[in-house]
Order: sequence, then C-alpha cells, then structure tokens
Amino acid sequence: MRVTFLGTGTSYGIPMPGCDCAVCRSPDPRDRRFRTAILVEAAGQVLLVDTPPDLRSQCLAHGIRKIDAVLMTHAHADHIFGFDDLRPYTNRMPEPMPVWASAGTAQTLRNIFDYLDKPPIPGTSLARIDLRIAEGPFDFHGIRLTPLPAEHGHADMIGWKIEHQGRSFAAIPDCKQLPPDTLGLCRGADLVVIDALRIRPHPTHMNFDEAIPVLREIGARRSLVIHLCHEVSHAQAGQLLPGGMAPAYDGLRIEL
Ligand SMILES: [Zn+2]
Ligand SMILES: [Zn+2]
Ligand SMILES: [Zn+2]
Repeated sequence: MRVTFLGTGTSYGIPMPGCDCAVCRSPDPRDRRFRTAILVEAAGQVLLVDTPPDLRSQCLAHGIRKIDAVLMTHAHADHIFGFDDLRPYTNRMPEPMPVWASAGTAQTLRNIFDYLDKPPIPGTSLARIDLRIAEGPFDFHGIRLTPLPAEHGHADMIGWKIEHQGRSFAAIPDCKQLPPDTLGLCRGADLVVIDALRIRPHPTHMNFDEAIPVLREIGARRSLVIHLCHEVSHAQAGQLLPGGMAPAYDGLRIEL
C-alpha cells in the first residue's frame, strides 16, 4: 500500500490569501499546504480520500492518471468543493465512479451537486458518480474499507481505515474527539493520521495537546498529524510532537 498526502492544510490552505505571517511567508516548502486530501494505492486501485477545492492542482502536481474510487470524510467546503474535478477521471471510466460517504455527507453532496439525482443529458460531461452510503466495513478489490465515526462539530464525520495484505492505514483528518469504537479500530495500525489544527484550542478540531494523547492511545507504528493552520510551521509542529509522531506535509509519500 502506498499513501501520498496531496494536501495537509486546514480550510484556508497555507499561505492564507492576504496574510503576511511568518508561516505564510516561510521559504520551507513543507509550509505550503493545499487543503486536505490523501491518495492511497493498493491492489492496483487508486483511492482518493476527499475532494478539496485544490483537487485539480493536486492531480496535476502529482500526475494522477486515474482515480478508481473516492472515500469522503464529511461535507465541509474544504473537503467537497473539488468534487467536480473528478470529471476527467469519471469520463474515462466504463461505469460510474464509486464514492462512499456518510448519510449526512451524501445528502449534502446531493443538495449541492444536484445533477447526481438527474438523468444525464447526452453530450454533456457531468461527473458520473455512484454515490454510496458507508454504514460499515466493506471490500473493494480486496481492500478492506472501514468508516470511522468521529466527532467534528455538526458534521456527519467519518474517517477511513484502509487495509490490504496485512497493512493498515487510518485517516481522520477533521476531529475533536474519537469515540471508543473508532479508537479500537485504529489501535495498532501501521499508519494513522489525525487532526491537529494549531496550539490554541478550537471548538471542533483537536489542537496539539489533544491529538498527542489520542495518538499515544492508538499506538500506531507511525503517527502523523494533519489539517494544520498557519499558526504553526512545519518545523515548530515537529518540535511540539514527541518521538514517533510527526506532522504530515504535502507530497509526503509512505509505503506500507
Ligand atoms: Zn477540513
Ligand atoms: Zn498566515
Ligand atoms: Zn471539517
């Protein structure tokens, strides 16, 4: 299994337009963060976690040739407003692209992208999507996919556990708290990534002080944080985290 972080920033991205802070002006390329998306390759399949507004640029930057399926986490703007950028990939597929989402996220997607419920008009190129509701674990080409419910404000939020050939990766990009069942499903994963927005507390995101004990409890072989805002540089984030934990950054690629 190969995991590539296409974007690791919070909803504004970094740099934030109009901001002259030290992180937004940082020369460190790891301080440039697109909105959060993760590509997972396994069993010859390419899975995408979330469709942020930067998706087109991310696909071009990484030369992504195909996307076989999408795993949505929740329907906040920074995770869904690149949904239409799936079109160049869906257009080349013989069948509609499977997209899994929680019931709440699926409903919001149907409200915003209303063509999902309308018959296609011949000659047009709307995304051809097979939107499915994820209610429990299922298999996709031998890859085990398990939705991971998480608390994140009013969002019907799910992270994803992806397992193939004895390797496991759990991704929960936006969360304030993880219920015991989700903690149990994440425990002992080869790689886990969760939300750590900044140093100050936030009502719907974990800060560093909240993420660290959760990552300790999960005890993954490798632990990362994601969805950082411009109040923390990559270098500073690295210093805030104990050994065995690190901030993700755009372009980070991990083979499991
Ligand atoms: Zn987000
Ligand atoms: Zn800034
Ligand atoms: Zn969110």
